[in-house]
Amino acid sequence: MSPSVESETANHSGTTIEPEAVDPSVVDGAVLARVKAEVLSAARTMYERGLVEGTAGNVTGRVTADRVVVTPSSLSYAAMTLDDLVLVDLAGNVIEGDRSPTSEKSLHLECYKLYPEVKGVVHCHAKYASMYAVARRDIPAGIDEFVVYIGGDVPCADYRQSGTDDLATEVAKHLAKRSAALMANHGMVCVGKSVDDALHSAMVVEHNAQIMHGAEALGGVVPLPEKAVTDFTNVYDFIRNHMWSAEE
Ligand SMILES: [Zn+2]
Repeated sequence: MSPSVESETANHSGTTIEPEAVDPSVVDGAVLARVKAEVLSAARTMYERGLVEGTAGNVTGRVTADRVVVTPSSLSYAAMTLDDLVLVDLAGNVIEGDRSPTSEKSLHLECYKLYPEVKGVVHCHAKYASMYAVARRDIPAGIDEFVVYIGGDVPCADYRQSGTDDLATEVAKHLAKRSAALMANHGMVCVGKSVDDALHSAMVVEHNAQIMHGAEALGGVVPLPEKAVTDFTNVYDFIRNHMWSAEE
């Protein structure tokens, strides 16, 4: 064994940051403050960009493996402050906060349960994406760069009633290899390596949905060549598998 390998091994064994040693119920105050700020900022941007109307939609951010910051239900985004955000565990129990968590908390929590690499989730009712959701059609990935961001076509999950665990189970299973999914007759949900990343995906999906809608009016979406889809899907998979979980 070379000296460099020996010393690297020693360094690794000497570090105090072993994943198994981290208690998911212990929350670092600085990380909690950062995630809360990201959730509030993303919620306001989601509203200001017209991705939702009124108090609809919801935003969450992961603090630890078992702690998530969620927006409250029925509160305007303009009036929302950091103190209104609620900390919950993956079972949905309120750990900290006075308000009721969003009624779609099950949807968000299911995404965190299934995908440890996911650190942010955004659910919204953006117009063009929702048109596809109401028509119960996947949004085609007609632009190659879109595949890098989202992983391919945005699949439309089957209809389940809003706010139910059934909806959470049905929708979240579509996000294994995608950053976005449609909820039939409802809207969309996006996941990301951070809250900002999930919000970015929501904006990218809405932008793409508007373009695909226009392309349909011009005679139809011409599919990307198969090789381009494969190549860019591989890029998405690599980024998700190797870079998402490497983030804090
Ligand atoms: Zn909704």
